Amino acid sequence: MSDQGISVCELYPSSSPPGVSAGAFGGSDGPGWCSSAKSGSSSCGAPLSARRSANDFLSLFSVIGSRYPSNADPVAYDPGVRTLVLWDIDHTLINAGGVGREAYAAVFQQVIGRPLERHAEMAGRTDRAITAETLLLHDIEPTGDLITTFTALLAESFATRRHELAVRGRVLAGAHAALRALADRPDVVQSVLTGNMEPIARYKLLAFGLDGFVDFQVGAYGMDGVERHPLVRLARQRAERKYGQVFDESTTVLIGDTPHDVRAGHEGGARVVAVATGSTPASALRACGAERVIPDLTDTQTVLEAILTP
Ligand SMILES: [Mg+2]
Repeated sequence: MSDQGISVCELYPSSSPPGVSAGAFGGSDGPGWCSSAKSGSSSCGAPLSARRSANDFLSLFSVIGSRYPSNADPVAYDPGVRTLVLWDIDHTLINAGGVGREAYAAVFQQVIGRPLERHAEMAGRTDRAITAETLLLHDIEPTGDLITTFTALLAESFATRRHELAVRGRVLAGAHAALRALADRPDVVQSVLTGNMEPIARYKLLAFGLDGFVDFQVGAYGMDGVERHPLVRLARQRAERKYGQVFDESTTVLIGDTPHDVRAGHEGGARVVAVATGSTPASALRACGAERVIPDLTDTQTVLEAILTP
């Protein structure tokens, strides 16, 4: 909360564009997620409490559950209970160097037949929501068929631009070491919770050699819903089915860089470790109720302690 009694979270609007209905896209379209910010408690939820070519390309790589050696000091843990660690991608692990915005613009031109004039806000949001709002910003009805066509071409566009990701983008400091350290632990199941649709999430991690550290099968992605928070429960369910363990709010941790990530974790049943490597300052992430806020991922031991210590 700020000194004025207004949460910093009020600065951040709902991720759903006006007119985007849950029914149309299979997700939930809740009210502005900081709308109750003056209640005196965190407004961000209660803490604790393609097409063929893209798929063909991705099938060339082994991307599930690879384990790599790690020199990180171990953090005390109960070997009988595994923790589900869910990573946001953009501005938490990598910076895509503007490739995403270019892909959206190219697909818009291809599908709509005129240049893209305005981008919807992208940070912390799902590809489904970004696509719908981008269309609405141009007075185009985001029908289900149009969303399907647009996002399939978006995946293709990333397939053709995949080499640009590594050239123009960058992996954020400490991300590789943190992922490797966690992948090496038998008490951790590691995946992604991202607004990117799955093929794009894979391209982004692949471009920076991070794909082998996560189990993509139990992640949740930007076409799984409009809003981000239902994706957390979906990832938990996928992990429970695969690993035969219940992952609840005490054994699920989400790491992200935006208030949308904080809200998603709390509403979806996860502790949140916020990383101030995006456009949201640490103070704002703290005000939104993130259990832990760290400046970046550079100190692997600090990262592991933040993630694995309840
Ligand atoms: Mg992010």
